Amino acid sequence: MANVASDKAVPRALIGACFLIGLSLLLELGVLLAAGRPVPTAGTWTSLGLNVFFIVLLLRRSRLAWQYGRLVMLLRAAQLGITLPNSENPSVAVVGVALVSTYLGISGLLSVADSTRYFHLFCPACDSAGKADDFLFKTVRCKTCGTKF
Ligand SMILES: [Zn+2]
Repeated sequence: MANVASDKAVPRALIGACFLIGLSLLLELGVLLAAGRPVPTAGTWTSLGLNVFFIVLLLRRSRLAWQYGRLVMLLRAAQLGITLPNSENPSVAVVGVALVSTYLGISGLLSVADSTRYFHLFCPACDSAGKADDFLFKTVRCKTCGTKF
């Protein structure tokens, strides 16, 4: 019974990741403001909509959203980390560093064991970690015993 109750609860790491997704939106706005660009733009609203959709998918245990969050946030952090040193505006650089930290935090919080258990990524037979068995990550294959779940 305890496992069922804890299985339904959203882990703190995932709540933290959702909070950081919201914070990253504010920081993206901050970068635009610091760069002197007009806000909000169509891109701002698109980003808001996509991030709300992303949070909903995460809370609905979408493994694809989980994978997206881990990998794309790392790529966004790397891309921003590469372009930031070219910024001549120090306030853009400061907000940008905070944004890079936020992206890394989202990826890290989604990678901790509590989050991966929430997305049922551990084999029910041997409790080993699994990997995607299909392109949309609907089924998982155990890396150890090969069970699909
Ligand atoms: Zn297994």
